[in-house]
Amino acid sequence: MSEDSVGDWLQVVHDRYPPAQAAGWDNVGLQVGDPHWPVERVLVALDVTGEVVAEAAAGPPTLVLAHHPLLFRPLSSLTPSSAAGRTALAAASERVAVVAAHTNLDVAQDGAGTSQPVADVLELVDQRPLTTELREGERTKLVVFVPPEALDAVIDGVSAAGAGRIGDYERCTFRVAGTGTFRPLPGSDPYSGEGIGVDAQEDEFRLEVELPTRKAGAVVRGLIDAHPYDEVAYDLVPMYDGAEVGFGLVGELAEPARLAEVAARIRDRLPAPHLRFAGDPDRLVRRVATAGGAGDGLIGAALGSGVDVYVTGDLRHHVTLDAVEQGLALIDAGHHATEAAAMPAFADRVEHDARERGLTASVVASEVDTVPWR
Ligand SMILES: [Zn+2]
Repeated sequence: MSEDSVGDWLQVVHDRYPPAQAAGWDNVGLQVGDPHWPVERVLVALDVTGEVVAEAAAGPPTLVLAHHPLLFRPLSSLTPSSAAGRTALAAASERVAVVAAHTNLDVAQDGAGTSQPVADVLELVDQRPLTTELREGERTKLVVFVPPEALDAVIDGVSAAGAGRIGDYERCTFRVAGTGTFRPLPGSDPYSGEGIGVDAQEDEFRLEVELPTRKAGAVVRGLIDAHPYDEVAYDLVPMYDGAEVGFGLVGELAEPARLAEVAARIRDRLPAPHLRFAGDPDRLVRRVATAGGAGDGLIGAALGSGVDVYVTGDLRHHVTLDAVEQGLALIDAGHHATEAAAMPAFADRVEHDARERGLTASVVASEVDTVPWR
């Protein structure tokens, strides 16, 4: 039986929760470790603290699969002088790998998304995302302006560097004819026209070709080498693959209930022992929005969606006052409580996919309690 590796498990996580679906500011994926390290146990945790690393180090070769990135803000050194540096250093020296699935898990529609637990305990019907965002795909379009006689050379140059492949076709391009204008300034070396200072018009083609974004540097070098102009005019345009990701959830209660009752239901069933709410306790609640974790950035979306109450964590004083003032009740169920409740489904989905691929490491929940509040 072959041994599981960190890379095997990373692939499972990324196939289900693609890093491309994470927010641009996020930092997800393999944060500590070598893809070749063996893995006999996957420890699922909300946070990666020193205690969690110690728990991981005490067992067989372990990968910590966490929701919150251990490395989030850039580090300038890997020393014990910061909490993240101390923990990452400990993980590396104990050969504990750390993988994070953060906003790419938040947006999951497989029942493991971090907004799901609150929606589930309230049994919200007609659930839909609170907001949607478009994510960039992994392809880029190159648009370049080319004189007719240089078309073949430019297509050769960019194709050799990896552009123009679509499925089983290569040298895929599109072009339309048009007119380019320019006035050469002193110091330029114009390919055509009447010389320095004279306005010129030239027949050119606008040539379009797709490429994998990761090959953009090589393709631009291939383009510039093949193109006859001393200044090549080109655009690199990110291509959206049309995939939208949704943050938060909105839905309706099967039966309207008082705000105080809704709050009590979440407190008891999530559970959310540090829950607090803002608004008239007797207010009748029908529509509910929720976002796991720190959700004050989505209060505007909650207001716009016409819900009676917004359930999230980490709500600040003034943000809360303003929302209540605008007619929105708030339930702060706690950052930890809302997201910790999603960890069992997260572990379950990853384990399911891993078994289908023949991976054998055990998947266990961390026993460390990372709630800082007492
Ligand atoms: Zn969080």
